[in-house]
Amino acid sequence: MSVFSHPDFDDHEEVSFLREPEFGLFGIIAVHSTARGPALGGCRMFPYTSEADALKDVLRLSRGMTYKAALMDVPLGGGKSVVIGDPHTDKTRELLLAMGERIERLGGRYIVGEDIGTNPYDMAILGQRTRAVSCRRPEDGGYGDPAPMTALGALQAIKAGMAHARGSDALKGAIVAIQGVGNVGRNLGRLLRQEGAELVICDTHRPNADAAREELQARTVDPEEIYSVEAEVFAPCAVGGTLNMDTIPRLRARVVAGAANNQLADPDCGRALAKRGIVYLPDYVANGGGLISCAAEWYRTDPARIEPDVRAIRSTCEQILAEAVEQGLTTAEAADRIAQNRVAEARTARELLPATLG
Ligand code: NAD
Repeated sequence: MSVFSHPDFDDHEEVSFLREPEFGLFGIIAVHSTARGPALGGCRMFPYTSEADALKDVLRLSRGMTYKAALMDVPLGGGKSVVIGDPHTDKTRELLLAMGERIERLGGRYIVGEDIGTNPYDMAILGQRTRAVSCRRPEDGGYGDPAPMTALGALQAIKAGMAHARGSDALKGAIVAIQGVGNVGRNLGRLLRQEGAELVICDTHRPNADAAREELQARTVDPEEIYSVEAEVFAPCAVGGTLNMDTIPRLRARVVAGAANNQLADPDCGRALAKRGIVYLPDYVANGGGLISCAAEWYRTDPARIEPDVRAIRSTCEQILAEAVEQGLTTAEAADRIAQNRVAEARTARELLPATLG
């Protein structure tokens, strides 16, 4: 199948296929849109079982980054890169340097950051070959781990959801079920405890579950039980696709808001949640805090601006909830519509710029 006829091809501006066997580099870089600015998105390293899976992932994820940047109102477009391989066994310095060179060749249209299978140390190596790198450690000139800001943004989404569902955003005594207590989930747990919430947590990686249980004074349940916990809020902070036609009927929560990407297995799941009267805050809005941090790093804006901008995710969520009600849409559809309008406006403004010759 050609890229142009791929069901997830959405007028992506550029899709580059990387094949450098001498460095073990096989991957794809997708630039979905630069209408609002250079396309920022993480580099995911994953042992995809087929090139088709890698292509599908990069096309979908890069479009998601365009929407996320538009809704966070940062001057960035959306892109993503995938490297086919196991990060534990296939990731070498040579591979990362080769990847950095390929990113540099795009001339700043794509800016890389960390994602599943890559980390801030890898960003430092990529940075030896390309200037187009973000989400770096402070020692490397970056603004540090974006996860705490991702968690702060998710808290804003939870509060917006509580206010909408309950008429009050108070979390004191409210039970929140967190699926996945890794980097973001644990940070979110800390913030929720500060608000007086009670936590029920799960994690497939036992040491993470144990450490979080102790620190957060949380109750742990088996990963399969988390859906049916009697809670006000269900916060997916693990992997994508956990909200599906099997799990949605089991939910007892009134609000779903968390950091995981691509939470809905498919668009019908948004309708299934709405039908059950569950308030869903779209993932790419709830988890946009990390992007705000990376965008500030890229543009070298005052780091003191990051936190207020992340707190503004609350008003973005309120706008989405209001438009969903007014227009009879699911919240996921309302968020997509706002993002699409913002990208279209930027594209039109760019097309209206006078052409310069020579
Ligand atoms: P992480 O790897 O640190 O944590 C994920 C945790 O989920 C791990 O502890 C893992 O063991 C656990 N897990 C995996 N599958 C599970 C399952 N089925 N049930 C329960 N637990 C499971 O990752 P993270 O940085 O905390 O990110 C969490 C999610 O948020 C990911 O989907 C990520 O793409 C998304 N996200 C993260 C950021 C960020 O700033 N780190 C930004 C935007 C989105």
